Amino acid sequence: HYRCRSAFKLLEIDDKLHILRPGLAVLDCGAAPGAWSQVAVERVNALGTDPALPTGFVLGVDLLRISPLEGAVFLSQADVADPGTLRTIRSLLPAEKVDIILSDMAPNATGIKELDHQKLISLCLALLDLSKSILKPKGTLLCKFWDGHDSHLLQNRLKEQFQDVRTIKPQASRKDSAESYYLARLYKGK
Ligand code: SAM
Repeated sequence: HYRCRSAFKLLEIDDKLHILRPGLAVLDCGAAPGAWSQVAVERVNALGTDPALPTGFVLGVDLLRISPLEGAVFLSQADVADPGTLRTIRSLLPAEKVDIILSDMAPNATGIKELDHQKLISLCLALLDLSKSILKPKGTLLCKFWDGHDSHLLQNRLKEQFQDVRTIKPQASRKDSAESYYLARLYKGK
């Protein structure tokens, strides 16, 4: 019932590392078509399906249109790297900040490996800037990157700002040899 197979990557990561819990507020970047948001809605109890547990919140953002999903708020046709998007994101959040930022964002691949790698690293760095304004202290950031020359730049920036940073290569993405995720936990905040 997931909109896209990418759901299995997030399920796999979350089964192993337990980043999503009932009651948490999640920002899902590069959310279209919405499979990660589906997983997040379930795992943070955004629909209040289990009334005994706290109810979470999910906001998905993408350049593309995202079809509505019960339990999630979507911001379509918005560029996460555009500073103007921050204001809109903030206006849609129930509280000032979120507990988790997920990013499965990927620019349109040109096929030139080094260029695609650099574009995605830049996008992740822009996301890290945005995190400053909307990620709670001790919060979590999970972001996809394509491995290459500049990966360590992103990794170093994450290590400055989070207490625990690890690289994850889900089984579900083994077909795409360059694709990995950084999981950064315990945001130091400002
Ligand atoms: N996680 C999604 C799911 O499970 O349905 C799949 C995400 S797909 C691999 C990558 C998405 O990142 C695309 O929909 C693309 O439009 C989006 N994207 C790329 N650059 C972006 C940007 N600057 N701002 C917002 N979204 C972006």
